[in-house]
Amino acid sequence: MTLTTQAQKDFLKRGFSRRSFGRLATVLAAGSTLPFYNESALAQLSKVDNAPPDAVMINSNENPLGPCKEALEAVHKIAANGGRYLYGEADKVQKLLADQEGVKLDYVRIYAGSSAPLHQAVLAFTSPQRGLVMADPGYEAAERAAVFIGSKSTKVPLNNEYAHDVRAMLAADPNAGLFYICNPNNPSGTLTSKSDIEWLVANKPKGSVVMVDEAYTHIAGAPFNTDLVAVDKDVVVLRTFSKIYGMAGLRAGAAIARPDLIEKLAGYGAGMMPTTGMAAASASLEQKNLVPDRRRIIADVRNDTLGFLAKNNFHYVPSVSNCFMVDVKRPGNDIVMALRQEKVYIGRVWAAWPTYVRVTVGTQQEMNKFKTAFLKVMA
Ligand code: PLP
Repeated sequence: MTLTTQAQKDFLKRGFSRRSFGRLATVLAAGSTLPFYNESALAQLSKVDNAPPDAVMINSNENPLGPCKEALEAVHKIAANGGRYLYGEADKVQKLLADQEGVKLDYVRIYAGSSAPLHQAVLAFTSPQRGLVMADPGYEAAERAAVFIGSKSTKVPLNNEYAHDVRAMLAADPNAGLFYICNPNNPSGTLTSKSDIEWLVANKPKGSVVMVDEAYTHIAGAPFNTDLVAVDKDVVVLRTFSKIYGMAGLRAGAAIARPDLIEKLAGYGAGMMPTTGMAAASASLEQKNLVPDRRRIIADVRNDTLGFLAKNNFHYVPSVSNCFMVDVKRPGNDIVMALRQEKVYIGRVWAAWPTYVRVTVGTQQEMNKFKTAFLKVMA
């Protein structure tokens, strides 16, 4: 990731200390990125090291279905050309996405996943004066980037319905630079209504941006927010192929926003995209029934598991995503560690909800193992 001269100037203008800027410049000059956090990095932080090969891995919100058949075929086909810079592969994804989302081509920027644009948005739109506002519990990557560069960061509890409390978010930092809405939210798996997102977009301060992270939106079957982008609102939508399309390792994603906002992200670089990931992304987008079919498969397994929890009188948060939170009524990490002994690896614990653990929805077989192990460790 490189930093253009324009991005450097813009960064310094926003009141960062020389020290913050120096820190950023050093990591970028080393040909590196920020210490970026994606699910697997965050799972590492919650002390998942070498799991046994027969472990049930339901800790990183991955999709056990993996890439679809057509995506795999496309990867095989293009691999032989791996020696070439096939820029056209990313262009193809850009065109398909723009058509499907109803936005013009220059509103879509392709990335290898959505972690990069997520972090770049924090670099581009936050500062010590104009901070980041996000939900608590929420997906931590943006917050970590903000803290790293010395931006202000504010967390606002989810409301009683486990949605982003958009009015409280605005009140918490009325001059924020970036409002981050993850919909459905990671870790709670719960939705924020379209009308609340629209309210925030209409009432946020001038010059700030609402970023809607739609990593799990396909799984929930909730409305996208690219319609707000299409009418030129100050909105950045993040897309990833890591979740419903099962491509966390193959890598593809996008930022969808007005070209002037995209340009601000682009100041922090992107580079050549992996052609395997791009070919798989195009092939996936071309499958008409893939999203509804997978949504149904994931929902069936999730609802079966939530039904099991209800039957056994455990309190859980009603998720519509591929992860859920369950209250274990004791320090969550005790149960995380106890399940590891049963070779079941679940997600991490959030400080705001210390007795809840996050569990990813795996295959039915994996969830059956989870159920047995969970009853044992909770007994
Ligand atoms: N946003 C959310 C809410 C996530 O949960 C994740 C990963 O789990 C990401 C973004 C980034 O994923 P990726 O970089 O694989 O697209």
